[in-house]
Amino acid sequence: MCDLWVVMQSQGNGKQEKIVEKIVCSVCGKATPIAKIAGKYYCFTCGNKIVKEHIVGLLKDLERKGFIQSTSHEEDL
Ligand SMILES: [Zn+2]
Repeated sequence: MCDLWVVMQSQGNGKQEKIVEKIVCSVCGKATPIAKIAGKYYCFTCGNKIVKEHIVGLLKDLERKGFIQSTSHEEDL
């Protein structure tokens, strides 16, 4: 994926200027961001981690509420 992002920036004179900006991952600050989550940019590694944590949290929440059963035993099969 390209690491240069085209951003439209409003100028003081009312014109919109097309600028090319380099955006880095908001966590590691190095890799090329591939996703924008809650207004922040994340690379594949960091974005993946955040999405996983979010899904795990969501599943645990559903488990607590009794919507789903724990899947932790199934990993031992
Ligand atoms: Zn990162």
